[in-house]
Amino acid sequence: MSNSLLIRGASQIVAVSGRAPKRGKSLAEIDVVCGGAMLIRDGVIAAIGPVAQVEKLSESKRAQLLDVDGRIVLHGFVDSHTHLIHAASRAEEYELKIRGANYEEIAHKGGGILNSVKKLRTATADDLKTRARHFLERFAEHGTTTIEAKSGYGLDVTSELRILSLHKELDAEQPLEIVSTFLGAHVVPAEFRGKAGGTRTYLQLLVQQLIPEVAENGLAEFCDVFCERSAFSRTESKQVLTVGKKHGLRPRVHAEQLSNTGATTLGVELGAASCDHLEYLRPSDIRTLARSKTVATLLPGCDFHLGLKRYAPARHLIEAGAIVALATDCNPGTSPTSSMPIVLSLACNQMRMTPAEAISAATINAAYSLGRHKRIGSLEVGKQADLAVFEVADYREIPYYFGVNTCWLTMKRGEVVHMRD
Ligand SMILES: [Zn+2]
Repeated sequence: MSNSLLIRGASQIVAVSGRAPKRGKSLAEIDVVCGGAMLIRDGVIAAIGPVAQVEKLSESKRAQLLDVDGRIVLHGFVDSHTHLIHAASRAEEYELKIRGANYEEIAHKGGGILNSVKKLRTATADDLKTRARHFLERFAEHGTTTIEAKSGYGLDVTSELRILSLHKELDAEQPLEIVSTFLGAHVVPAEFRGKAGGTRTYLQLLVQQLIPEVAENGLAEFCDVFCERSAFSRTESKQVLTVGKKHGLRPRVHAEQLSNTGATTLGVELGAASCDHLEYLRPSDIRTLARSKTVATLLPGCDFHLGLKRYAPARHLIEAGAIVALATDCNPGTSPTSSMPIVLSLACNQMRMTPAEAISAATINAAYSLGRHKRIGSLEVGKQADLAVFEVADYREIPYYFGVNTCWLTMKRGEVVHMRD
């Protein structure tokens, strides 16, 4: 017997239907059904539309009923850039930054990513898993139903494989979907730094041992690189991403965050799924992205937390026709948040995206960057019933009430995974 659920009483259902990915003007076309209803069968959307139309279906009459009492129904957020597995916060660096130290100075003194690496290597797998579980609960509480998660705080064979195995275990053991990315090229680890040929030796470890092992064991779908002055050059990044691609790992790139390194053109050249950050894009990079299928993933939480004035040029990207997505970049150093609603607020206030554009960027375009847009990312018949219900009267109030979590209920594959008391 099939398992049917009828959701009714929504003042708005934000479907974000239509052609994916959304570029240019279509980013704002989110298809709001006022007073709509939705029928879910076995975790998949079976009908969606005006309440009278959905309710008259014979299956709706037999279905279990969920009345959302005037709230707003959205597709669950797809957070396409997170560093889920980490051992501890870096609150001590937060204070240093407030007192004036910049991110690269802190990194230079062994803080930053290397600080997280040190903490992760001494943590047990159990501790890491418990911490990740708490974060996953918080993601669900804020309306997120799928996340991408990167390794990159291990930076040795054992620790990197341990992180990626945890992605796989957690994906199987709890309701949110986890898409795994290998980020062995996050920075050069301490034991290789300052040694003659240290970076080259570390890169050899990545391309000769780690990438083949990760791919062989199915531990990641994507391979990512931090292409930056303090991390890897464009040439080094190219080497890692090319070898990853040969092993079936699709590229993603941390690009132009603190300076322009040419990472965006490299990403597009290699057919990367996404180039992320993009604060230091050049006009020619914007044109390159606009002509490509590579998603421009913007991470305003990072700029906000670091107190930076320069955000990615979202309006220029949208107007040029690039595929824009939004994500939290949840990580202990530069963006310690699991809240997509706050990312929407930042996108609207700091990058001048409209609430509708921000919603498309955080759902369907993000799903596209993870290669899952045919199954998730919008509320359409035949797609997975991943939803978030918000206690607001209008979808624009989600970013409008900044710093307030208005998520009331989150559902993954038709099952409730979070409900406010
Ligand atoms: Zn990142």
